[in-house]
Amino acid sequence: MAIHFIADHNLEALLERLRRYGELHAPVRGDDGVVRFSLLIPGIIPDLTALRTLLPPKKYLLHPRETILSYTSEAGYQLPVEISPPLIMFGLHPCDLAGINYLDRIFLGDEPDPLYAARRSATTLIGVACTPDELCSCQQILSPLKALSDLFLSNVEGGFAVASGSPRGDELLEGIKDILEEQEGDMPEDSRRFFGHAVSEQPRHELDVTLPEWQEYADKCLGCGACSICCPTCYCFDVLEFSGLDGRSAVRVRQWDNCLFKSHAQVAGGMSFRKDRAERFRYRYLHKYRSFGTLHGIPSCVGCGRCRVVCPTGIDLRPLAERLEEVHHG
Ligand code: SF4
Ligand code: SF4
Repeated sequence: MAIHFIADHNLEALLERLRRYGELHAPVRGDDGVVRFSLLIPGIIPDLTALRTLLPPKKYLLHPRETILSYTSEAGYQLPVEISPPLIMFGLHPCDLAGINYLDRIFLGDEPDPLYAARRSATTLIGVACTPDELCSCQQILSPLKALSDLFLSNVEGGFAVASGSPRGDELLEGIKDILEEQEGDMPEDSRRFFGHAVSEQPRHELDVTLPEWQEYADKCLGCGACSICCPTCYCFDVLEFSGLDGRSAVRVRQWDNCLFKSHAQVAGGMSFRKDRAERFRYRYLHKYRSFGTLHGIPSCVGCGRCRVVCPTGIDLRPLAERLEEVHHG
């Protein structure tokens, strides 16, 4: 079988060609040793060895804070006009691609979010294969989410096998054909294999609110929200309104919110749907492992391991999931 091959020594040439299609972003290790998705300026080589960036790529599609409506007494209400220049995201691992697939299901569903939709259609996804480490759980959570990309690079001897996953990918292949070689060989085992499975048999019942595990874990949780901020599928946001000091203008803003914050489920009058940390912890667990709404049964955990890296008290949902499975099936 013939594969498209790009040699290691042509990686910089590949990146240079990709810049013709948009602003190129990739995992870059900073002076502080932290790997972040950021602008890849010429001469900088992306860090393709790091398994996870500090923040996932959701920051490009769902901005941490943005205006969704503005008002002035002269112009009335105005929706923001989103001008999204073409963005090329290079070096996405399958978990992050599946995370984007989850966000697509949320924000491009029946009523697409215009800001997300504009950015998403301007974004080209270029995946790179990886080998899971002990913090990853993509192998344990077989998921119907798909790790879709426009191009996908898999490591082979001396370079990468390159596969297209979309018409945009075909166009890119055409644009880099001078540095591609056609080689005889098999595609390597694909690290996207953990995704794209049919919805598996999952317990559909709600987990018992009285299980002692909720309190046990809540006692260790600081409620800092770091696990949610770094999660590629956590998309909760708050909507806030601010009036101008002139009394003639106002903006409505949405900003990332966090289900582990006490304020997350607070409503007018100071009431709260989830007053206790144990309730909030259970809520996060349910969303990650069971999901809800129209996506019920599709885990929103894509196994990237970021929450395990950042949690200051070392909380890992995996042993909790195993124990809860025992409670229900044992
Ligand atoms: S719950 Fe943790 S491991 Fe799962 S996708 Fe979110 S950050 Fe990654
Ligand atoms: S990072 Fe850890 S301590 Fe902070 S909210 Fe998440 S589980 Fe709790």
